[in-house]
This record gives sequence, C-alpha cells and structure tokens, in this order.
Amino acid sequence: MGRVSALERLRKTSISVKDIASQLWCEKQMELYLMQPYSTPAMAKGAAVHATIQEQVFVELPLEPVTWWDRLYKWAYENYNGIMNIGREGYCREVHIYGSINGYRISGQVDELRLSDGRIMVVEDKTINGNGSRNGVGRRIDSDKMQLNIYHKLLEDMKMRRYTYENFARSYGIEDKKLSADFEKGVRSLGVRDEFVGLGPMYRKMFDAVAQMPVLSDAVRLKYLDRDTKNVITEMDMQYDRKGLEAYLPDAMKYWSGNRDARPVSEENKSRCMSCRFFGKQCTVWWNR
Ligand code: SF4
Repeated sequence: MGRVSALERLRKTSISVKDIASQLWCEKQMELYLMQPYSTPAMAKGAAVHATIQEQVFVELPLEPVTWWDRLYKWAYENYNGIMNIGREGYCREVHIYGSINGYRISGQVDELRLSDGRIMVVEDKTINGNGSRNGVGRRIDSDKMQLNIYHKLLEDMKMRRYTYENFARSYGIEDKKLSADFEKGVRSLGVRDEFVGLGPMYRKMFDAVAQMPVLSDAVRLKYLDRDTKNVITEMDMQYDRKGLEAYLPDAMKYWSGNRDARPVSEENKSRCMSCRFFGKQCTVWWNR
C-alpha cells in the first residue's frame, strides 16, 4: 500500500498558502500546529490589527452564512466587490485566492491588493512586537517572502486564466450546490441582482474580475506593523521570485504527497525551538542536545 498523503492524515481538503510558507521556518512545527491549533494573545492582537485595517475599505456582505456553501458565496461576493472598487479606492483587502500546485487544491487570503503605478501589487502585513525583541522584523522573513511569492503565483494563475473558474468549480464541486434558503432570501433582500445570485454565477464573476484587473506588478510588498500601536515599523518592496519559488515547491510538496515525513529545523537553526510551544513536549528533536 502506498503512503498516505499529509492531507489525508491531517484530514484537510486543501493546503493553505500559509502552511506552505511555514514549512520554510519549521515543517514539523507547521504539522504540529495543524494537529493541535492554538492561539496566543499576540495572535489575537494581530488579528485585531488586521480587522481594523480591513474595515477601511471592505465591502462586507452583511449576512451570516448558514452553510459552508453560503460562506463560500460570501467570500466571492466580497472579493468581487473589493476588486471592482480598486480603481476608486486604490486598494482592496482580504482577498481569497485559489489555485492548484502539483494537483493539490491551494487557497489563501491576500492581505491587500494595491494599485501602484497602474499595476496591482500584492501586499502582506505582518504584525510583530514593536519593541525590537526577538519577535521583531526579519525573524521569519524567508517564510514571509515565500508567502508573498506563492500569493503572487496563484493570483497570476487566476489572472492569466491558467487556473480558471472551471478549474475551481470542478475542484470544489460548486455547480450543483445551492445556497441555503434563508441565506439566498437575505441576499435577494439586499437587492443583489439575479445574475449575482448562486455560487456558480458569483464565482464566475469573481474570476472574471481578477482576470480583468490591471496587470500584476513584478514587485511584492512586505509590511511589518507594531501589533500594539498599529504603526508601520518598516515596509519593503521586492521582486517576485519565480525562480526561488520553483526551486522551493517540489521539495515542499513532497511532504504533502506523503513522500517524506515532516522535517524538524536543522541544527544550525535550532535556536528557533526556543520560541516553539512544542519544544520538549510533542517535539524533542533538539531537547537537551
Ligand atoms: S521544537 Fe524545534 S524542531 Fe521541534 S517543532 Fe518546534 S521548532 Fe521545530
């Protein structure tokens, strides 16, 4: 019998962009986190900062989803409206993106798409401790950059129609799925036109909106914000690193296909274990060594 893929073991149906980027920091930590998710006060503060920034331009569909399919609809509606407003607002926030790598379903949520010099730039915000402690800028910069590279690749695939509405519809099986009656009633009561009601129609519009966006910038932007003050500590623009991404993905995907186990950090990087909540508990690779 062949090896079981990590997705099956972890009972996941898709891989998030964050997961793939986190493999670069410590793959074993990423796997343990997926098995035993947790949150910390710092993570909660980070989420609050994101929520505050999002409020500035986000066009929320003010309805509570009843089913998973309602939720999926809500994301497409919000994506579509955000993207359609970029020309007026100059940017949009929290854009759900979808794609495929090695046949695996990949999804992610881009913090910001910003119109810069007539092009669309992918922006990622990282909230960190602003007092210069070890949680500061640069600590996870390689995985932060990789996250941006993967977002750029997925968005480019959607934009260039290498990953199309049809790919998405097949992968998620949306075409025969219906919105719950209450949710659909809510959507209609908001005056949403017929052509936007239903998962298929809404996603088709959303994929078209991505394809029709201005051309993507070759640069991506990484911003570090103080999680207490919300001030920008630093921001850096860098080139989308297609070659670096292509070099990284084959080995990263071997973990997901079950060709190899999750790797701990190398000896050279074992200082990372000091801030890992699994250190000496679920992971003892570098414990007392
Ligand atoms: S203790 Fe170290 S090697 Fe183990 S999961 Fe954490 S960071 Fe990775």
